[in-house]
Amino acid sequence: MDYNHVMPRSSIRENVARLLAELQDGVELMAAAKTRTPEEVLEAVQAGIKLIGENYVREAKEAYALVGKSAEWHFIGTLRKHSVRRSMLEIFDMIESVDSLEIAGEIDRKCAQIGKTMPILIEVNSGREPQKSGVHPEGVEQLVRETSGLDNIKVMGLMTMGPFLADPEDSRPYFGDTRKVFEEVKSLALPHVDMRYLSMGMTDSYRVALKEGANIIRIGTGIFGERD
Ligand SMILES: *Cc1c(COP(=O)(O)O)cnc(C)c1O
Repeated sequence: MDYNHVMPRSSIRENVARLLAELQDGVELMAAAKTRTPEEVLEAVQAGIKLIGENYVREAKEAYALVGKSAEWHFIGTLRKHSVRRSMLEIFDMIESVDSLEIAGEIDRKCAQIGKTMPILIEVNSGREPQKSGVHPEGVEQLVRETSGLDNIKVMGLMTMGPFLADPEDSRPYFGDTRKVFEEVKSLALPHVDMRYLSMGMTDSYRVALKEGANIIRIGTGIFGERD
């Protein structure tokens, strides 16, 4: 029986409160804001969200104009060299989707111009899917070593999407592999690297991701409702 037409959809405020109540200390709840209006993003912040994830620079600029520094901003979208611009680097507090030395080098170069050091996460293609961005798990250590030499970048951990699977429990091995690489790189204690954040899990899979050690979860639908 489908009750959706009679039950009021839970509000952004209720969704954020419920998720925050569920999380342990040390875990950050990101509102993944793609396709949402600036007003919806502001509502999430007023409900207690302290971290916003943006896939698109244009949407980020619009939401940032309304919300400003009352939350932290992470870029989580596909990054191309030409989209790395000063105006976007000024908004973001972290870029979670770095998967090549070329992109890292461009961020470094542009950040040097504005006197900023950008925290980054390395995106891991934990499912080794050809259509997905991210480095394969076996390439992570090398990319961390290479990017750690850049003055205006600070590697602070890993991010992964994982394959989309009907049963979130099936995501566990991909999250587990990412965590394993995270711990391995951390144990190397590389200079200028601070392995602190493991960003994994979305609306359908965050509980599994938390069990596998995530400390940033990225929730869109579970906060704002279905995307149109
Ligand atoms: C859209 C998106 C999310 C959130 O997805 P939901 O299933 O709506 O929770 C998380 N991470 C990234 C990188 C996304 O693009």
